[in-house]
Amino acid sequence: MILDVIQRSLQSPNRLVPVESLLGRADGGRMPHVDVSLLTAEMAETACRLCPTSALSLVHREEKELLCLDYGQCIGCGRCAELKAFSIAERLTCCGVSKQRLVQYFDPERATEVETELDIPKAAGREILSLMGRALNIRQLDAGSCNGCEAEITALTNPYYDLERFGIHFVASPKHADLLLVTGSVTRNMAVAVKQTYEAVPAPKLVVAVGACGCSGGIFATSPAVAGPVDKVIPVDAYIPGCPPTPAMLLTGILEVLRRPTKPGK
Ligand code: SF4
Ligand code: SF4
Repeated sequence: MILDVIQRSLQSPNRLVPVESLLGRADGGRMPHVDVSLLTAEMAETACRLCPTSALSLVHREEKELLCLDYGQCIGCGRCAELKAFSIAERLTCCGVSKQRLVQYFDPERATEVETELDIPKAAGREILSLMGRALNIRQLDAGSCNGCEAEITALTNPYYDLERFGIHFVASPKHADLLLVTGSVTRNMAVAVKQTYEAVPAPKLVVAVGACGCSGGIFATSPAVAGPVDKVIPVDAYIPGCPPTPAMLLTGILEVLRRPTKPGK
């Protein structure tokens, strides 16, 4: 009986998804993509009106009116995708980056994107090589989440994504962690616990804010019960947008943050 099971398991095809096909993928995340060649000033204005979280806004810079898209505030509601110049992004290059790099600017008059600092993801092999031979322990911290982000984080450990293949593990105690993965806008009741958890992680440590709530407060940003996004309470090294981010976006973000050098003393 047991031998049959082992034999069948060995004969079945490998379902594990290669990391190359996961990195940068954003399908299912419902994040917008702007085709600036189709963008008009009127469309930019309508998009800002439709956007429920101010992820889309008009800004004046050097006597130009630009459309600003802040992925950190986007909840993927899809309203802007009803307009011709907007679609749902299949790929996203701003997972695991600084807050400034979550923001894109578009000039509807000249039909150009401006001040974009987003990187094209480097070859997947580099991430794999850089991770070989090292282990990373993650402590996930719910600072006031709706649990949507947790559901996606949990999926990272299933056999399809298999985060453990990179030597990345989730641990129960912050004392054993290298990286804090913080979800949710930080509620006032959780602010002290978040600070204490951060202090309990031994240096050098990394903090990644997850989801629209973690990045900007998301749909709870204006609630009186909320102290603010994660960086209002503890220092944050990188941000992963989405509401919730998909496992592929989380994986891309975690691998991206590992590529960057840790600040001395942290
Ligand atoms: S998908 Fe994001 S940017 Fe578009 S309207 Fe919704 S929240 Fe705003
Ligand atoms: S970002 Fe979205 S899914 Fe994640 S905790 Fe906030 S509301 Fe929930």
